[in-house]
Amino acid sequence: MDRLLEKIEQLKGERNAVILAHNYQPGEIQDLADFCGDSLGLSIEASKTAAEVIVFCGVRFMAETAAILSPDKVVLLPEKTAGCPMADMITAEQLRQLKSKYPDAIVVCYVNSTAGVKAESDYCCTSSNAVAVVESLPSDKKILFVPDRNLGAFVAERTGRDIELWPGYCTTHVCITEDDINKAKEKWPDAIVMSHPECTEPVRKMSDELLSTSQMLKFVKKNSAKRYIVGTEKGIIHALKKENPDAEYIPATERAICPNMKKITIDKVIASLEELKERIVVEEEIRIRARKSLDRMVEILPSD
Ligand code: SF4
Repeated sequence: MDRLLEKIEQLKGERNAVILAHNYQPGEIQDLADFCGDSLGLSIEASKTAAEVIVFCGVRFMAETAAILSPDKVVLLPEKTAGCPMADMITAEQLRQLKSKYPDAIVVCYVNSTAGVKAESDYCCTSSNAVAVVESLPSDKKILFVPDRNLGAFVAERTGRDIELWPGYCTTHVCITEDDINKAKEKWPDAIVMSHPECTEPVRKMSDELLSTSQMLKFVKKNSAKRYIVGTEKGIIHALKKENPDAEYIPATERAICPNMKKITIDKVIASLEELKERIVVEEEIRIRARKSLDRMVEILPSD
């Protein structure tokens, strides 16, 4: 293991590279990364670094987002098949058709979407700022929210806005059921249930806190509770333990594992640095339009 980590350090130096890892990555990948975080936080970090090469340990839309924000850098995804089923549940063509049905509506896309879908959208949002983005939009306008119906419904609940939901969903978060939460609460009645807004409505209703991964990390740092039931992808527990090692974290279910996130291995990170693959490039015309929806979001990001 030490030999592999030394190899990575050597290659990073030779390539002038930085390694980013999403909060859902395997623990050993989080541990070797220069930065860990959520998809947008990492892309912003990538755009600020002086490194010429970015190895994005996550899934394709995240590397694409980094490439949209940093067109002059080489962005690499260590496993080319690491995709996001939810991002692939709507295509740019499907979104164009939806827009033609509601020509006056404003399109808000979750960052978990392809570059083509971002290019067709007016605003991008993350799970941390989706409510703030929608609240900032003119109240008389209908909103088309893609691709996650669960995050979209959560935003509609919080804002009371007229939102047309695309029927996409995260295949991992929908594995967390009402029954899982009930059983966990019975076993650990003192625990705080914190779930991600990508969870289904029954799970959202049973949760004490609905938080993005970055919000969960901040929450456990400030909170004095000793036990949490975690309703999101299990990889976050590795990051939560680092943030607040004194508390106990119980996954709502052992099934909440994103197989795509777990495709990245140490060997693949090494191969990625050695061979500069899989390079993620976004076609310039799409990149410029996708960048606008990201820039509009950054303008209204909440300060926390
Ligand atoms: S956890 Fe869900 S939204 Fe995230 S990459 Fe996996 S499938 Fe996509």
